[in-house]
Amino acid sequence: MNSPTPIRPESDLAAEFWEKGRSESCPIYDMHGHMGEWHSIYFPRCEPAQMVRSMDTAGVKLLCFSHHASLNSPDIGNRVAVEAVRAFPDRFRAYLSVNPHYPEELARDLAGYDSAGDVYVGLKFLPDYHRVRLSDEPYRRALEFANERKLLVLTHTWGGSNYDGPDEVRRIAGTFQNAVFLLGHCFNSQWDEAVAVALEHPNTYLELTSVPGRRGVLELLCEGAGSDRLLFGTDLPWFDEHQGIGSLLSADITEDDIHNICHRNAEKLLAV
Ligand SMILES: [Zn+2]
Repeated sequence: MNSPTPIRPESDLAAEFWEKGRSESCPIYDMHGHMGEWHSIYFPRCEPAQMVRSMDTAGVKLLCFSHHASLNSPDIGNRVAVEAVRAFPDRFRAYLSVNPHYPEELARDLAGYDSAGDVYVGLKFLPDYHRVRLSDEPYRRALEFANERKLLVLTHTWGGSNYDGPDEVRRIAGTFQNAVFLLGHCFNSQWDEAVAVALEHPNTYLELTSVPGRRGVLELLCEGAGSDRLLFGTDLPWFDEHQGIGSLLSADITEDDIHNICHRNAEKLLAV
């Protein structure tokens, strides 16, 4: 059996990743991660120290995440995310997870946002799972909060969804223009709509968790929206960092595009 041949053998960047699994010149900012256990699936490495080990193998400098417990267990809430960031302050930042079904807990968490400036980079919404439309009332307070503070808002987005599909994102991106919306999964399968929304709304970025394995999509998004509007993300621990990196290195895009996606855009958004 032949050994695997790099698809981009001409690229020093690709060669470095193929050989070492990581690159000195191209650190990764994974802007869409999670943490902790999830029902119905076994994650071998989903606790903070284990996740840092996964990140190290791929040169992931920073993971911005929302904890599964914060999204689904309001009795635990965002406390576990705060603890994880403070245990590994150089490697993690958290999105404050918003569960629209628990307004009292949300009000409490938002009230504590400013005192956790070392922890949070913004908010995280999961409309399709919580079955609440982005433009519906339960999200309004969180959106106003993000708009006042010019925060990042990572929201799950899915093609064809009534909760977080393209038209719902258009509504909130147009109304809350000071917030910056990171469109998780960038409307999985509705790639043309992802490009259209990015062009219509400069306060949106397309996050790539759903893209690895889909041939031609990275090229389409770079060409249509521009690589300065794309963000690396994996849903770690759901998917593997190297799957995402390999898809970038194997696509017909430039090294500049790869640097934009892996770290430059995130560095600007996080002001690091
Ligand atoms: Zn997610």
